[in-house]
Amino acid sequence: MVTRIRGGTVDGIDGFDVLVEIDAGRGLPAFHIVGLPNAAVRESRERVMAAVRNSGRSWPTGRVVVSLAPADVRKEGASLDLAIAVGICIQQEAQPVALDWRRTVFLGELSLSGTLRPVRGVLAMIKSVRESGCTRCVLPSLQLPDAKRIQGLEFVGVHNLNEALDWVRYGRVPARDSPPAVCIDSGHGAGSEGDRRLFASMGEAEQRLIQVAAGGRHHLLMHGAPGGGKTSLARLIGALQPVLTEPEALEVNRIHGVTGLNARASSLTTRPFRAPHHSVTRGGLLGLGVSGQVGEITLAHLGVLFLDEIAEFSPAVLDLLREPMETGQIVMSRSGRHRIWPSDFQLIAAMNPCRCGLSTSSRGHCRCTALEIARYRNRLSGPLLDRLDLMTDVDGDCSWSLDESCDPRSAERRWTEASGRVQGTWQRWRRLAAAQGGSEGRFIPDLDFCRNWLDADCRDYLDQARSSLGLSVRGAIRSVAVAGTLAFLDDHRRPDSGHLAEALSLRSDALST
Ligand SMILES: [Zn+2]
Repeated sequence: MVTRIRGGTVDGIDGFDVLVEIDAGRGLPAFHIVGLPNAAVRESRERVMAAVRNSGRSWPTGRVVVSLAPADVRKEGASLDLAIAVGICIQQEAQPVALDWRRTVFLGELSLSGTLRPVRGVLAMIKSVRESGCTRCVLPSLQLPDAKRIQGLEFVGVHNLNEALDWVRYGRVPARDSPPAVCIDSGHGAGSEGDRRLFASMGEAEQRLIQVAAGGRHHLLMHGAPGGGKTSLARLIGALQPVLTEPEALEVNRIHGVTGLNARASSLTTRPFRAPHHSVTRGGLLGLGVSGQVGEITLAHLGVLFLDEIAEFSPAVLDLLREPMETGQIVMSRSGRHRIWPSDFQLIAAMNPCRCGLSTSSRGHCRCTALEIARYRNRLSGPLLDRLDLMTDVDGDCSWSLDESCDPRSAERRWTEASGRVQGTWQRWRRLAAAQGGSEGRFIPDLDFCRNWLDADCRDYLDQARSSLGLSVRGAIRSVAVAGTLAFLDDHRRPDSGHLAEALSLRSDALST
């Protein structure tokens, strides 16, 4: 007799469901798992066997074969433990159960004593399970609060193998208070108290820059001597942005869940901020189709990707960012199949003026030759620079970061005002995107839109600027987008020539100076 039961595992950032078939009985004692299990799944033999025995259940005396279907996809992780153990116990105990295996999925890693541990990628698995017609999901009770955010499924939280088997046989689990959802971060465009004070102590130009970058999610390159506060600026931009909406939070938690970054029933509500080191490889940044490794750009989805010392990154790796910057996604190939991962990130980059960082500073003497400086700056390709909306010098001489004299109440007020303006700007961009039939995400205008949106004066101004600055079409469009953000921050409906001039000045190629 063959027992069938459903489990799930992850592949990249996506979950998929696995049909577990168990045949036990004839032959010499043995335990085999077939169907491309990886090391963690193969090891589940030992965990399952110990968990079944330590739960006071009997183990089949003969040969046990577990088959995982589809057989041609590699199975990863320990999330199949529970399904395998429940299947073996059902078969061994041969008592009637009221379990519709087609509609119920079991997820969970077993400890040797039979208790359940949280699994990574639980949201991704539940999503795929729901799409394949399941109506019930049995999972570790620790992950119940997180799972319940997905609608349309009945969830059963269990502590151990015996509770799962009791539920299979009697349809009930011991009543207990479910643990509250763990929230890693506080809500509404929060920012810590330190963020607020730092923001309030900044100069007007820096505050404006932060609001523009935060309000339009514009890609930004900051240029200036080390210690000028470029990293603090990048963090404040992320902190000033609105918290994730519920669908966005689900998406971000699903992605971060498969990496195990928040496997333990936690909920991210603020936007991701990823700052990979400049030694990051192509696979680390973009993700790897072969092993299913998730890249930094996908982890930064709906948040900020901060590249400090961008000129130290490999130019070949940086150039690969161009496509996801345009489309908000990355196309991966794996075993002949294509997959598309979301990567709608806001690029914030910081760069020193030369390798030693002192060529524009009054604080020290730069020893780089002119050739070395030129070579250093040329590490960013023209097409990549063209995709940046804001390029600006950040003055290394300002002393704001240590200003302790700022009054906390006025700091609070300035932060609230700025955060309100940024929220309002987001709403206007969203409405505009909806009116143009676009998606919820970032709205990138096209040339026709720009021509209709700007009045005659602005169009003339833009044409003049294009010829005098040698701006590409893409550069012009991006400047119009920045002008739009500036207008929205000022509570205008569309940009005027003043906004356009400011946008062009914020895009002035800092590298050419
Ligand atoms: Zn130098």
